[in-house]
Amino acid sequence: MERIQGLLIDLDGTLYHGKHRIEGADLFIRMLRESNVPFLFVTNNSSRTPEQVAQHLTGMGIPAEPEEVCTSSLAAASYISHELPGAKVAILGEEGLRTAMIREGLELTEEQPQYVVQGIDRSFNYESLSKAVEWIHAGAISVLTNPDLLLPSDHGLTPGAGSLGAAIEAASAVKPVVIGKPSSILMKYAADRLGISPADAVVIGDNIRTDIAAGAHAGCKTILVMTGITTEHNLQDHQTATGVKPDFICKDLMETVGLIRDWQQGTVT
Ligand SMILES: [Mg+2]
Repeated sequence: MERIQGLLIDLDGTLYHGKHRIEGADLFIRMLRESNVPFLFVTNNSSRTPEQVAQHLTGMGIPAEPEEVCTSSLAAASYISHELPGAKVAILGEEGLRTAMIREGLELTEEQPQYVVQGIDRSFNYESLSKAVEWIHAGAISVLTNPDLLLPSDHGLTPGAGSLGAAIEAASAVKPVVIGKPSSILMKYAADRLGISPADAVVIGDNIRTDIAAGAHAGCKTILVMTGITTEHNLQDHQTATGVKPDFICKDLMETVGLIRDWQQGTVT
């Protein structure tokens, strides 16, 4: 196996649960830095800016820089900008999405846009739904930052960007361009940010349906960690449902540290 040229690392369920660091996450990231393995933190979360994500990680004892963060909002902005530089964009979303669009040189509008981009939007209401649908009917391209239907919160699961997207899709009868995992777009964008081909990147995450599927769709190698969504009991179900199998399975990040050390020394086949 070729040496890893870049690691694309999931956050929730892989490095932390909500506000609590997962055991070994700090050592894992330190090992990558010491071994000069390039990496990015890759998240479907569109609401936070890279600065906020880096701050959250740093606050949990995992020092991180904004430049090391790759969100579905950044990938959405890059995707649109490649299709149509300076495009007029209407957003249904939060700060992370707004900032990403502006930094990419896209023009935010509340009139008929060329793109409607929707992420998690905790002020979503009937009026914003109506406008989005009207714009899409009039020809705007519908873009969804991430299709997650539910999000973990302090009070259990709450509706995610995908649930709002389902309302827009139902009313507009148009399927959105999906950016976040399990789409390959986010992973290809992240690999590109590292200056490597997806085939030379390794995706690590806790969710077969999102992380591992996105990695497989993009042509990356994949490592599943059993620290979050996937358990011994549901592993087979997730694999059957997606038709995707991780290349490696690690029970925790300590095992992952060992795997990556061996991999870089050329002893993984
Ligand atoms: Mg996860």
